[in-house]
Amino acid sequence: MGETLGGGFQGKSALVTGGTSGIGKDVVLALGKAGASVVFTGRRKEAGEAVLAELKAKGGRGVFVRGDVTSEADVQNAVAEAVKLGSGRLDLAFNNAGVEIAGPIVEARIEDYRKVFDANVLGVLLGMKHQVRAMLANPGGSSGSIVNTASVAGRIGMPGVSIYVASKHAVLGLTRVAALEYAKQGIRVNSVSPGAIDTEMLDRFAGGEDSDMRKGLASMHPVGRTGRVEEVTSAVLYLLSPAASFVTGHDLLVDGGLTVP
Ligand code: NAP
Repeated sequence: MGETLGGGFQGKSALVTGGTSGIGKDVVLALGKAGASVVFTGRRKEAGEAVLAELKAKGGRGVFVRGDVTSEADVQNAVAEAVKLGSGRLDLAFNNAGVEIAGPIVEARIEDYRKVFDANVLGVLLGMKHQVRAMLANPGGSSGSIVNTASVAGRIGMPGVSIYVASKHAVLGLTRVAALEYAKQGIRVNSVSPGAIDTEMLDRFAGGEDSDMRKGLASMHPVGRTGRVEEVTSAVLYLLSPAASFVTGHDLLVDGGLTVP
């Protein structure tokens, strides 16, 4: 009998970036509920404290560490806090923080490129650098599981979001390389690629639930709707869990069939 799907988190030490809202917040709460200790980051202090209060109210164990994934000092600090809360270990990491930007290539601005690539690509690179270092040093031998948030925008071209699309393609590249570099040390690295998911990011990008763009996005998905955060969370927890012990370098689409060839 294999591991229970999504189980095996009791007593594990976890780190989640971008846990102040949306997908990251849901994963923080789910990991806490499943028995992991969870350190999570984000730049918004009040939002982070509200998520922490919710986590604790549900019996979870965690710490909010205010931090920016584009700052190596902040990234190192968050990893150190996770190791501290986890009694010297880091078992799980979810590199989820990200930002979006829209606009055609002919209007691309260097500052937008830097903003998106710093958060979405450098953030994942720095995160994995320090998470893998901690996982290599885990007492009893190196081990760990990392999941990065890519996107359907990392799998296909999409007009009007060139910088975001390029950044998410880069996340897939980083995931594959990290998976290969640390496979022998027992550290698995995978990604999830969500379709359009109902979060603050989708509100910013496509307007509220009644907007024409939102309805258009919903109808683009073969299932006829946008996704819910918990539908991404279950994919993330699967990849993080021992149930995925032979899965590394994989990108799991959670997109309601959007990218079915
Ligand atoms: P969201 O609610 O806007 O969440 C984004 C999270 O990233 C927030 O917690 C935000 O926290 C954090 N963040 C952004 N820049 C950061 C930085 N420099 N340092 C630290 N934290 C930072 O949107 P979401 O939809 O849940 O997005 C989560 C991930 O899913 C992103 O990588 C996004 O690209 C990806 N994604 C989303 C969709 C979708 O349709 N929603 C689809 C595919 C992929 P602070 O603001 O507090 O810093």
